[in-house]
Amino acid sequence: MNFADSEVVASIMSEIGVETTNDEMEADIIFINTCSIRDNAEQKIRHRLKHLRHNKKQNKNLTIGILGCMAERLKKQLLEEEKLVDIVAGPDAYKELPILLREVEDGHKAINVLLSLEETYAEIQPTRLNSNGVTAYISITRGCDNMCSFCVVPFTRGRERSRNPESIVAEAQDLVSKGYKEVTLLGQNVDSYLWYGGGARKDFDKLTEDEKASSVSFANLLEKVAQVDPTLRVRFSTSHPKDIHDEVLFVMKKYDNVAKHIHFPAQSGSTRILEKMNRTYTREWYEMKYNRIKEVLPNCGVSCDIITGFCSETEEDHQATLDLMRTCEFEFSYMYFYSERPGTLAARKYEDDVPEDSKRRRLSEVIEVQHEVSRKLNAAQLGKIHRVLVEAQSKKNADEWMGRNEQNLKVIFPRSTYAIGDYVDVRIEKTTTASLIGVGVS
Ligand code: SAH
Ligand code: SF4
Repeated sequence: MNFADSEVVASIMSEIGVETTNDEMEADIIFINTCSIRDNAEQKIRHRLKHLRHNKKQNKNLTIGILGCMAERLKKQLLEEEKLVDIVAGPDAYKELPILLREVEDGHKAINVLLSLEETYAEIQPTRLNSNGVTAYISITRGCDNMCSFCVVPFTRGRERSRNPESIVAEAQDLVSKGYKEVTLLGQNVDSYLWYGGGARKDFDKLTEDEKASSVSFANLLEKVAQVDPTLRVRFSTSHPKDIHDEVLFVMKKYDNVAKHIHFPAQSGSTRILEKMNRTYTREWYEMKYNRIKEVLPNCGVSCDIITGFCSETEEDHQATLDLMRTCEFEFSYMYFYSERPGTLAARKYEDDVPEDSKRRRLSEVIEVQHEVSRKLNAAQLGKIHRVLVEAQSKKNADEWMGRNEQNLKVIFPRSTYAIGDYVDVRIEKTTTASLIGVGVS
């Protein structure tokens, strides 16, 4: 999400003649696009700012801006605490950056943290940064209307808005014309995408008859993007278990170019904890939806996010999470221990009462189970053929390519005559916890 935002910012800057550089010491403006999701994300930024003192000493004209969630969360306080910072701009204020830069030129600190009900940056063609020329992100919604009690996103990114589908399709077409082979449609909760003409999210049954008639759901949007080009692989993330619909699964089934992978965060395997998290589904509901995915799309990879040590989590709740992971056998998971975020429902209502060493121990147990599952699932791929989109040179060996299969797993194989951007059928000959290793056969 942040990466996609940085590309929007780069595009806005290029309009006023400011280009990006890979050399930090050469820069006259440094924007840091920040995340507030866990405390350590913010600590990293604080650390980074300490290092930038050196840059500011070297270049008196250097302007430093903090953008995104941390800017939104801390607002003016950030300018007071971090003397080095000249600009604070929230996620809906990027178009104002040229004005904020002018204020800095006039010798002032500048801030804009207004959230919007409409801003989707629909008309901005993102400048692709550090691009491999093959895969790209397209933002389809901004903000989030859910209120998961642990999560700061609704406060830092504001109300959920869907982006005009025509601008999304146009962006996909433009990427295809530039040689891109894969797009990932991004939103905090893609399944609740609903275009009805603009503005904050509304439920379908709250729309007027006219709005209903011209509305575009996520399933409709996915189909439109899938139709852009049969060789464009389409992914999306994230799917909230409460909102995923059969229609989306049917579109995935109908189009070969929609990758068979769903990122499907459970967060916990305990219904009691899920309720406290305000996820609005139970363990049973989650498994029912998971089973439905596998019923419609037997080869679909499912990945997960897990939080350990949420307020009041007992060993029994934790065992329920481990059990969920063994039952569902996720392809991969992003796993974290709970980090209390100021202002969230959980921070206000519940005590952060699981000791840090228990949170960490539970996290390592969760990681261990995921590794077991990944090893097992990957080993079952030996001898099978996977369609892989070549993305880059393998980090470990310049004679090998790294690409991803439909399920979003890394596949490594010898270069041979293949090139970045090719689809290659790879026969799997070796597997590890994190990747599949094979040889091209197409
Ligand atoms: N919209 C997505 C999640 C976006 S945040 C969804 O609903 O699934 C990405 C992940 O960060 C979450 O899935 C959650 O696992 C983790 N996360 C969010 N807030 C957290 C917190 N306070 N502490 C630890 N992990 C957190
Ligand atoms: Fe946060 Fe929940 Fe929204 Fe995801 S769905 S961004 S976890 S509030």
